Amino acid sequence: MTPLSGGPATAPSPAPRGPRDEVTVSVVGSTGSIGTQTLDVVAEDPERYRVVALGAQRSVDVLVAQARAVRPEVVAIGDATLAGELAEQLPSGTEVLAGPDGLAAIAAIADVVVNGVVGFAGLSVTLAALEAGRRLALANKESIIAGAPVVARVRGTPGAEILPVDSEHCAVHQCLRSGRAADVARLLLTASGGPFRGRKADELSDVGVDEALAHPTWNMGPKITVDSSTLMNKGLEVIEAHELFGVAYDAIDVVVHPQSIVHSMVEFVDGAVVAQLSLPDMRLPIGYALAYPARLGSPFGAIDWAELSVLEFEPPDRTTFRCLDLAYGAGRTGDLAPAWLSAANEVAVEAFLAGRITWAAIADVVGDTLDRYEAPGPAGDRTVADVLDADATARRLADAVVADRSMV
Ligand code: MG
Repeated sequence: MTPLSGGPATAPSPAPRGPRDEVTVSVVGSTGSIGTQTLDVVAEDPERYRVVALGAQRSVDVLVAQARAVRPEVVAIGDATLAGELAEQLPSGTEVLAGPDGLAAIAAIADVVVNGVVGFAGLSVTLAALEAGRRLALANKESIIAGAPVVARVRGTPGAEILPVDSEHCAVHQCLRSGRAADVARLLLTASGGPFRGRKADELSDVGVDEALAHPTWNMGPKITVDSSTLMNKGLEVIEAHELFGVAYDAIDVVVHPQSIVHSMVEFVDGAVVAQLSLPDMRLPIGYALAYPARLGSPFGAIDWAELSVLEFEPPDRTTFRCLDLAYGAGRTGDLAPAWLSAANEVAVEAFLAGRITWAAIADVVGDTLDRYEAPGPAGDRTVADVLDADATARRLADAVVADRSMV
């Protein structure tokens, strides 16, 4: 069996750093869940890590408070109309950049760029960091999924590397370090199962937004939490794993593990399975991405073995949680189909959060949109414009499906 379909299957070796060299960090999406936790991690070792840039879409107040605390050289705001208001409140001497270009610009100026932007908007940040040859600590999975054909190309820039800030992929990254790429049999991504695990489709027809946002083990933003409730998050992570590690879809499996202690596993050809365990805490993957190949000196998510008694595993319910196989399908189609999947899902999740469609209709919107997928001509070197087009087309079609299914 040859599960590897090209691309780097193990971590590339970074340039060696001295033990106490300062590492500069740019945090894009600094006011969100990943961004604020990144600042927590950096605060654990202020001698080693220095935040030189912060960026957010529109949360001026939080951005100002963060800038006063960490004193970056540059602060960027995605919504350019807020730049004046931001500049007035920042410590004097802080440079202000505005608009999507401003967010991309701060992705090019630090040793490590944390991309914690939510959704497709993170693509320009991912591309800017890789094109500048930076280490990208990637929490924005949509960019590597939707932008796969373009991201794959810029990953070859000297110095560019991706360290996944996603608990599963961080786990796989760690597990892969214990064997050779050629000896990998399969990746086993674990899924908590979300708040609706064990329930059937007919019991989920009228679940509300509050229920979908009540994640049993992880505290995250609303978009990813809804994605966890549909298993779309796991589906997106399957595509993300394929892109990050170059492993074929047939060699990526999903295992439901409600405790979220085993963050993922790698099975080798001799039958050995290597897993990474810790309590659910995103600060561990963030610290890993900052410190790799070393380890952050502060423990996050350390297990109390006197407390931990049970680790359960079960197969996913692919009938109730249809988004998982929709994602596998889009991944296998490849090219820009994952961009369509991700865009249609963003539209569907927004419509659900706004009370316009039911939870069950999220999979319908994604499925109906993907049914119309067409590649823009023969596969070849896709451009950013192709990806933006694919995103816009899929959103337009998904909007039409939402309108058809709208409850109001
Ligand atoms: Mg994850």
